[in-house]
Order: sequence, then C-alpha cells, then structure tokens
Amino acid sequence: MEIAIEKTTTPKQKPGASELGFGKVFTDHMFIWDYSIENGWHNPRIVPYSPLELDPACTVFHYGQAVFEGMKAYRGPGGEVLLFRPEMNIARLNRSNERMSIPQIDEKLALEAIKELVALERDWIPSTPGTALYIRPFVIATDTHLGVHPSATYKFIVILSPVGSYYKEGLNPVSIYVEPHYVRAVRGGTGFAKAAGNYAGSLLAQSKAQSKGHDQVLWLDGVERKYVEEVGTMNVFFNIGGRLITPELNGSILPGVTRDSILQLLRSWQVPAEERRLSIDEVFQAHDEGKLIEAFGCGTAAVVTPIGRLEYEGQVIEIGGGKPGELTQKLYDTLTGIQTGKLPDPFGWVVKV
Ligand SMILES: *Cc1c(COP(=O)(O)O)cnc(C)c1O
Repeated sequence: MEIAIEKTTTPKQKPGASELGFGKVFTDHMFIWDYSIENGWHNPRIVPYSPLELDPACTVFHYGQAVFEGMKAYRGPGGEVLLFRPEMNIARLNRSNERMSIPQIDEKLALEAIKELVALERDWIPSTPGTALYIRPFVIATDTHLGVHPSATYKFIVILSPVGSYYKEGLNPVSIYVEPHYVRAVRGGTGFAKAAGNYAGSLLAQSKAQSKGHDQVLWLDGVERKYVEEVGTMNVFFNIGGRLITPELNGSILPGVTRDSILQLLRSWQVPAEERRLSIDEVFQAHDEGKLIEAFGCGTAAVVTPIGRLEYEGQVIEIGGGKPGELTQKLYDTLTGIQTGKLPDPFGWVVKV
C-alpha cells in the first residue's frame, strides 16, 4: 500500500514525562483512510493532526455507527519500538465493524498503516517506566442523510497520544460498586464490540458509583443481574481458593487482549484458570469463607488494577488488606516486562515496528 505522507510544518512541543495524563495530548500526525462503495477503502494518507470537517448530517452524530480500538507502542531497552499483539486488536476491530454494519478493513494494511504512523511519530514515545504511546484507531460513518440505515461512506482514522503511568506509587487497589440496576450490555447486543455507544450508556452508572465514594462499577449480566461481567471498561478476575476465575465470553463481554494474555500466562505457570459463569453471590460467599484471595480488573490502559473493596446491596467487603495480590503483582510485572522488551517473549506477542 502506498501511504501518502504530508508532514506538519508546525511540530508541537512534546510534554515532559510528569505532564502526561491519559489521552490528553496528541502527536503531530494522524492516519486517514476513506471508504466508499465504488472505491472500497482508498486514499490512505498520513496528514498533520487537525480537526475534521464533517457535515452536521453525518450519520455518526445521529445513530452512532462508530467503533474504536485501544493499543500501545512501547519503547524497548535499546530504543526500539514495540507493539503488543496488534493483530488481535485489528481482528477485533473487524468483529466490531461487522456487528455495527461497517465494512471490513484489510487487516494487514491496517497494521502497516499503524506501524508507519507510529514510526513517523517515534520521538513521541515516552520511555519512563509505565509510560507508552497510546494508539486509538476508530471508524466513523460519514453519509449525510438522516435515514436509519448503514452509511455508504466511512473514515478509518488513527490518532496517537503519549500516556503517563497509571501507577505513580505502585499498584493501587480500587474500590468497586456492584451496580444492581443499570447494565452495560446484553447477549445479542453490542457488548462484545468496542462500539462507541456502549461507553455513552455506561457513564451514568460510573458517576453513580463515584458519588457513592467508589472508583468504578462492576457490571452484572443484563438478564438476571446476578453474574459478574466486567469492571468499568476492564475484564475481571477473582482468585478463589487459588483458582483464577474470569467470566466466560458470552457475547456481552468484551474479549480483552489483556484477558487472553493473562489466561495464557496463568496456564503457563500451572495456575488453575477457569472461564465460566461466576455469580456475585459466589464472590461474596467466598469472601465469607475466607477464600477470596485477590481480585483485579485488566485492560490495555492500566494493565491490571487490584480490587481492594466491593460494595453490593449495602454489603461491603475488603480484599487483600490494601495491597495488590501476589498474582496480580506478578501478572503486572510479567506483562509490562514482555511489552517493554525487558523480559523474554515466549509467546511471540511482541511486534517490532
Ligand atoms: C477495551 C475493553 C476491555 C479491555 O480490552 P484490552 O484488549 O485488554 O484492552 C475490557 N472491557 C471493555 C468494555 C473494553 O472496552
């Protein structure tokens, strides 16, 4: 694929490592690819980062035909640029596309485009421990009429943002509110897709949890509100009596790359790991019996987040005595070690740019 490159004439000042938050600053360039029925995906180009000019009637603004991905580029010990299992993100983007009636992209070309953009912006990749260059590919529908049907035109865009460490003073356990009323997704819906609307629908419960003094929501299943699904925008694991349990992928759970990597690591360490239905009652009962050893959320942004406290229907339990669990810490160290090239990569997960 020939990617046209138009370089900026006004490069930005790069932020210092201490000024990095999450997704607040963006690099100098972005990648854009257009879709039309006549030409398919065409005109791949890297252009200076700038606002988009879009007609107010674009269907993305009205009916939310939009999907996204989230991945990171890391700086290796010798300065090399590393991606972590990027082909999984691009395959997932296509599954999201399919669910939202958006045309499939060529996965090889999409990966090439991401690599080329990241290579051009390599000086933006921070190197302090815990930092990375966050990669946000997304697709939006750009037809300009108000009928409810799939758009005939789209844009695939990739933007990049240097991000700081989630953990300035080591892994910090969070407090979680088990949401008894609102649900994130239902089977048959769009929960397995990174579809923009899923996140709009989750914000109200998130602010409710925060107003009750918690950091995040634990979502229960949409039918019985009984089975554990996810934590905020992360997958979730519970260590019950030495067995690591995560909800099985049932259509309403987002199949995380981090979740999959953790399952593979646990199995390689001979730690029993189960993907199955897990009720919130089982979690609280395990706690009462002294068998709830640790719990954590996992995703690209934070890697793993220890859960220190759970509130469900007025009952509060504490997990881990304010410290991350042993496996939680080991998974964090191993995953970040592999991602940044500091540890061997026995699974072949790391892709050099
Ligand atoms: C992105 C996401 C995850 C985590 O997926 P990773 O591939 O590990 O980053 C989990 N749950 C939801 C709802 C998500 O959007």
